[in-house]
Formats: sequence, structure tokens, C-alpha cells
Amino acid sequence: MGYLKWLGHAAFELRLDDRIIYIDPWISNPKSPIKLEDITKADYVFVTHEHGDHLGESIDIAKKTGATFVSIYEIAMKAQDAGVEKVIGANMGGPIKLDGLTAYIVPAFHSGLPTGVVIKGKETTIYHAGDTAVFGDMALIRELYSPSIALLPIGGHFTMGVYEAAKAIELLKPDVAIPMHYNTFPVITADPSELSDLVKKKGLTTKIVILNPGEKYEF
Ligand SMILES: [Zn+2]
Repeated sequence: MGYLKWLGHAAFELRLDDRIIYIDPWISNPKSPIKLEDITKADYVFVTHEHGDHLGESIDIAKKTGATFVSIYEIAMKAQDAGVEKVIGANMGGPIKLDGLTAYIVPAFHSGLPTGVVIKGKETTIYHAGDTAVFGDMALIRELYSPSIALLPIGGHFTMGVYEAAKAIELLKPDVAIPMHYNTFPVITADPSELSDLVKKKGLTTKIVILNPGEKYEF
């Protein structure tokens, strides 16, 4: 069985098809339930863009576990220069073939070489939106990859707020949406239950799963 564990902010630990994956692992964030020392095993580390609250401890994790660092080309080269042995520098577009999994780097509207990532396994398909505004081509992400689980920022100010995230859910139509990138700092304070209300009002069937840092959603 797979799971997604929220590590606060945009950081997730994912187990998919028995691979351990970290996405945007800024685990020194103020809400993180774990420390770098707690991470001993990883197969892949994904970074959606180069801002410090997403790059986080990704390089340290890849170095200590031997995980493959996957990101847009320029960020992957920086990781390689910093001593990461296994890097995949890719770009937005088509499939990135991993050991038993497929990843797709998709657009995001933000600064700092922004992307989102879709990770497809046998068990499920997950979309981590990175930091982004809502954009119409989320419908294309739905059409091409049909992610079952969408990880969406809702904190506003730097990313979508709840109102925009509800529109993103309308475009993506995932089975489950998990809010992220909120309540780390006062400037990105948000109430995820407002997202549940907005989604219900739109008549959408997506289940909003609200996690506390350290909690897991199993699939
Ligand atoms: Zn950012």
C-alpha cells in the first residue's frame, strides 16, 4: 500500500509502488514533524523549483540516501555541482522514465524556474502543483494524465488561495485533493475547510483530505 505523508509546507514523503520519494523536501520548515537525521532511505527526490522553501534539504537527502535527484535541467545541474551523484535533469514535456515509474514535469506559473510534477505508478497518479497560480491548462493535465490525487497550494500571496484552488480542482477533477503551502508563516494563513466548502458548492465530487504535518493519506 502506498501513502503520502505531509511534512509541512510543500514537502511530502511518498511511497508509490514501494519506492520512497521526497517532493520539495524543505524539512527544516517550522511545521515539519521530522529532521534530516530521520531520513535514511529514498529512491527519488523531486524539486519543483529553485526557491529555498522547495529546494530545502533535497540535496542533502539525495547525498545521504543515494536517491536520484529529479528536476528541471538547471536545478539538477546545481545539485550535481553540489555533489549529488545521480541526477536527472529534464524539462517540461513528455515522459521521464524512472525505475518502474513515469514522471512528467508540467508547467507552473510562478518565479524561480517553476514547474509542477506528475508521478505515475501502478498504484496511482499524483500531481504536485509546486507553487503556482491557477491556469487553464490544468484541464490539459487532467486530459493527458488524469491524476487521482492533486497536491495544491492554498496559502495565497505567493500561490493560489482557496478560491483559485477550488477552480483548479474543477479543472483537474482529481479523486482527492490535499491542500499544502499554507499556515507555515502568517502571510500564507488559510483555512482548508473553506476549500472543502467551495468544492461542495461547485457540486464537485473531489474529496478534500486535510492533513496535519506528519499525517499520512494512504491509497
Ligand atoms: Zn516558490
